[in-house]
Amino acid sequence: MTTEPVDVTLSRLRSECDLCGAWSAFTGRTEARDGKTYAVVRCPNGHGEFPVWNRDREQLVAAYVRSRAGLRAPAAFDGAFATLTGTDPAALSRLLAAPGAELPLFSVEDVPVAAADAARWFDLLLGFPGWRPAPSRAVRIEEALATAVKYETPACGEAVRRFASPEELEGLFDRFVRRLRGSDPAVLAALLAAPR
Ligand SMILES: [Zn+2]
Repeated sequence: MTTEPVDVTLSRLRSECDLCGAWSAFTGRTEARDGKTYAVVRCPNGHGEFPVWNRDREQLVAAYVRSRAGLRAPAAFDGAFATLTGTDPAALSRLLAAPGAELPLFSVEDVPVAAADAARWFDLLLGFPGWRPAPSRAVRIEEALATAVKYETPACGEAVRRFASPEELEGLFDRFVRRLRGSDPAVLAALLAAPR
C-alpha cells in the first residue's frame, strides 16, 4: 500500500499530560470513535495513557493508520517502535544495524541514538526505504541536518549538502532555527553557507 509522504515525523504526535504537563510520547496505538482517530500517548511520569485528537495532526494520524495497514512485518515494526521510543541505546544500536523492512520515524531529539551510531542513523534517514509513514524528502533532509547538528558531525553536514540542493536547504532554514531554539544557529548557518 502506498501513501503520500508526510512532512513531519511521528514526534509530532506527542502531547502534554493534563496532570503534570510532561510531554507524553505516542504509543503507536490509535483509537477511532465519533468519526475521529485519536493518537494514544503515555505520560512518562506514571499518569497513564490517554487519547488525543488534534485537527492539525489528522493527516499524520491517517497516514500512520494507512501505513500500519500495509506493513509487511507488523510485529517487527512494533518491536522497533518500542526500541525507538525506549531508553536503551544498545538495543537501538542492534536495530539500526539490521533495521528490517519497516521502521517508524521520530525526530532525533526523541530517539536514544548513541553518538557512535549517529552516522548510521544519518545514513538511514537519507537512504532507508522502509520508514513508515514514508517521510517527504524535506523531512529526510531536515532530520539528517538535525542529526549532524546534534552530534556535531561535520562529515554528515557535508553529506547533507551533497544530497540536498541549495534551495532545499534554504527552504528549511527558518523552520530549523525555531527547532534549535536556544542552541547556536551559527552552527546551522555555517553548515548552509559553506562552499558546496
Ligand atoms: Zn503526567
